[in-house]
Amino acid sequence: MSKIKMNPIVEMDGDEMTRIIWQEIKDELLTPFVELNTEYYDLGLPNRDATRDRVTVDAAEAAKRLHVAVKCATITPNAQRVEEYKLHEMWKSPNATIRAALDGTVFRAPIMTDRIKPVVNTWEKPITIARHAYGDVYKATEYRVPGPGKAELLFTGENGETFRKTVYDYECAGVLQSMFNKDTSIEAFARSCFEYALSERQDLWFSTKDTISKQYDQTFKFIFQRIFDAEYAEKFKAAGIEYFYTLIDDAVARVIRSKGGFIWACKNYDGDVMSDMVSTAFGSLAMMTSVLVSPDGNFEYEAAHGTVTRHYYRYLKGEQTSTNPVATIFAWSGALRKRGELDGNAELAAFADKLEKSVLDTINAGTMTGDLALLCPDPDVRKVTTADFIRAVRERVEK
Ligand code: NAP
Ligand code: MG
Repeated sequence: MSKIKMNPIVEMDGDEMTRIIWQEIKDELLTPFVELNTEYYDLGLPNRDATRDRVTVDAAEAAKRLHVAVKCATITPNAQRVEEYKLHEMWKSPNATIRAALDGTVFRAPIMTDRIKPVVNTWEKPITIARHAYGDVYKATEYRVPGPGKAELLFTGENGETFRKTVYDYECAGVLQSMFNKDTSIEAFARSCFEYALSERQDLWFSTKDTISKQYDQTFKFIFQRIFDAEYAEKFKAAGIEYFYTLIDDAVARVIRSKGGFIWACKNYDGDVMSDMVSTAFGSLAMMTSVLVSPDGNFEYEAAHGTVTRHYYRYLKGEQTSTNPVATIFAWSGALRKRGELDGNAELAAFADKLEKSVLDTINAGTMTGDLALLCPDPDVRKVTTADFIRAVRERVEK
């Protein structure tokens, strides 16, 4: 059998258990079938430290050049990791660095199988959350007000023009917060969402609290509508999909009653909270994929979970772990399919489909890792190790 050829994608290796799984996936599920062509960047923490994090910046630049990247989960250092790895610095989260370089939006979608039923029994298709990952409460300025006094919002323009308004005349102690966002970031968010909806051929929902927040949230609503009308209305019509805006409260109620099968764009905080609710209701964090889409059409695929440290420490002691590799396999298949689509390489895209189908068939046949077996009471379920699961998938791909 001759192997499938492909143009290069960016490969970003990572840390701990997912780094082990990464290699197993390549050895068992990819290189036997595809002449894997990647530009390799080692984002494992030791190499990030050795390169003073240059490698992360280089990898992000490469993603802009090659348009498709696949990333393994990586450690975001904290004080404990600085000690554990004897780091020169507490390096920034690689995801934050890459997101800043690509100016992208993160889309998270559950991987559904027949075996694991969503908690919400009307959900038949995945719901993808698009989270605006810039500004708002995550970059807010806060103040613990010590006692009576006046809080004001003050803006001074470049030309000296000012805006000043009383926030509150405190008669006692309290709290104060101010947050910001900017049009360029909201525009990039909107374009990423419209692009992704087109690429997935799914409806796009967007929700804010614009009835209450008449400047802040309404700006989001207006920017989305302006860009949709000017750049996407025709394309959506041609693709047979819709853009739909509604209040966040209404959206929550509709999402629960829906059948799924759409993209739900959320402001930063809403996306943070709702993505946890949606992923839990669909089953497991180990069954969520995540793709960063930039407004100019670059795609970076990864799993939504972390490096699964607890399993890694058991692996280091020589134990065979039952870590779920599905989201990491789907990161690879997502990247290969996108490469195939962008290049008109139908064989590569078809391989990605086949790989995903083999994973789902394996689970539906009752072979799965421990995290899924826990959710699946059927008597025929076999809990297997990561290596055995990957081998079972390989047998199906070969067939
Ligand atoms: P985590 O790696 O997602 O794991 C948390 C727990 O969730 C695990 O202990 C495990 O539970 C379960 N789990 C997650 N993925 C699983 C899988 N594939 N198969 C089976 N079980 C799975 O989160 P964390 O322990 O909070 O973070 C570990 C490291 O990952 C941190 O250094 C963090 O910085 C990093 N991180 C990276 C990313 C990223 O690169 N995108 C995202 C999040 C976190 P049990 O132990 O109960 O089996
Ligand atoms: Mg969260």
